[in-house]
Amino acid sequence: MREILLATGNPDKAREMEEILSFASARGGLAIRWRRLAEFPDVREPVEDGATFHANAELKARSYALQTGLWTIADDSGLEVDALDGEPGVRSARYAGDQSDYQANNRLLLDRLRGTPADQRSARFRCAVVLTDGHTLLARAEGTVEGHIADTPRGNRGFGYDPLFFVPEFGLTMAELAPEQKHAISHRGQGLRRLRDQLEALLSENSP
Ligand code: IMP
Repeated sequence: MREILLATGNPDKAREMEEILSFASARGGLAIRWRRLAEFPDVREPVEDGATFHANAELKARSYALQTGLWTIADDSGLEVDALDGEPGVRSARYAGDQSDYQANNRLLLDRLRGTPADQRSARFRCAVVLTDGHTLLARAEGTVEGHIADTPRGNRGFGYDPLFFVPEFGLTMAELAPEQKHAISHRGQGLRRLRDQLEALLSENSP
């Protein structure tokens, strides 16, 4: 049984990662015991100062793997808005300031886009995911979902920018989708399923 740490300090992301990976494990029957960051109260959170989603995912995964001695999966994700030259990007969590919450970030995003017409509000969520043992990058994957930024928030599911992220194929915001619908198309769902395929190959190579 391989123990793998799902390393995120954000409870919303942790819930989604568990939902996505538990479904994937049930399908393939992987012998994995998932561990949570909450089980390791003494670990320190690394500073996320990478320039890209991948760099941040890798530095988080490496730091937690070295501190716990476990194979570790970490993700870094965020929203890129074309009319804002890709902002908030890697600063998505702290867009309205270091102590900002989802509401403040959403308000600032709407302010910055005030007057921007509907056909110029294209955006995407990106997610980079990494698996490492702390020394070697064992697997990496990315996922992207395209949409556009609505004028007003709608829906109360999901988290973060979901109420403002309109998904054309559903005609709904991400916060109006059921969790299974969101995971089927989301950046995090795609990234984690791709990573999981690589993990499956790694585990079968290493099994006797
Ligand atoms: P991270 O912990 O640095 O990866 O922060 C990611 C930030 O990007 C979150 O705090 C949200 O603001 C935003 N974000 C990432 N994924 C999603 C999503 O699935 N829905 C809505 N917002 C997201």
